[in-house]
Amino acid sequence: MNADIRQKFVVGNWKMHTTAVQARQLAQGVIDSVGSDDHLTVIVCSPFPYLAMVADILKCSQVALGAQNMYPEAEGAFTGEVSPTMSLDIGCSYVILGHSERRHTLGESDRFINQKVVCALAAGLNVILCVGETLEERTSQRTERALDRQLSCGLTGIPAEALLRLGIAYEPVWAIGNDEHHATAEQAQEAHLLIRRKLAQIYGEAWATRITVQYGGSVVPANAAAFLAESEIDGVLIGGASLNAREFLQIITAAKCAPRAVMLPA
Ligand code: PEP
Repeated sequence: MNADIRQKFVVGNWKMHTTAVQARQLAQGVIDSVGSDDHLTVIVCSPFPYLAMVADILKCSQVALGAQNMYPEAEGAFTGEVSPTMSLDIGCSYVILGHSERRHTLGESDRFINQKVVCALAAGLNVILCVGETLEERTSQRTERALDRQLSCGLTGIPAEALLRLGIAYEPVWAIGNDEHHATAEQAQEAHLLIRRKLAQIYGEAWATRITVQYGGSVVPANAAAFLAESEIDGVLIGGASLNAREFLQIITAAKCAPRAVMLPA
C-alpha cells in the first residue's frame, strides 16, 4: 500500500489589522526568511484592500495568499462584497471560511458558510473551513455536537475528491485571541480526533486521513511546537502572532521540525 504524508500548514490571518505600509513590511519580512519545504504550506491572509499589493510582493516566493472571506456568487448586485473569482484574479489561492468572528460576531449561519464552501471550490479556490465550539458548548459537554453540526452542514454537497483542496481549522471560540483561556495541546488533539472521526463517517477512513486539520487559538512561538507535535494537528492558524514577522517565522520553524502524519491512499 502506498503511503504519503500530510502537508503541514502555517496560516497567518491578519484580520482587520495593518496599514498598507505595515502590510508591505510584514509580507516582505515573511518572504525574506521563510525558505522552502516541500511538506510545508505557508499562507498569509491580508485584509482585502491590500491583497493585490501583497500578491505582488509574494509572487515568486514560497508563500501563498489567502482571502479572509468571500461572497458565494461569481458576480452580481452585492454591494460591498467580494467574489471568489475576484480574489483568484488578484492572486489568492486560498480563502478562510466559517471563521468564528464571522459566525459569532457577524452572524453567519452554517448554511451560508456551506454556500461559500461550495462556491469557493467551484471557482477554484482552496478552502480553509473553520469550526469550533463556544465556551458554553464546551462547559456543557456539547463540543462534539457543535463540531458535528458545523462539519455536516459545512461539507454538505462536497464530494470526496474536492477535499484535496479543502482543509479544516479547529478553532475553539474561547481560545481565540484570549489571554485567559488557552487550549492545551492535549485538548486540541482530542478535538482533532473528534473531527477526524466525523470526517471518516462522512467520507470513509482513507479520505479522513488525507484531510489536513489545523489548530488555531492563541498560538505563539512558545506553544507552537507543542501543538504541532500532536499527531492529528497538521498545522496552525495564527491571528495575533502573524502580525509580527519574527514571531510568525519562529512558528514556521517549529512547523518545519514537526513530525508529519501518514495518510492512506483514497
Ligand atoms: C484566528 O484569528 O483565527 C486566531 C486563531 O487568532 P489568535 O491566534 O489571535 O487567537
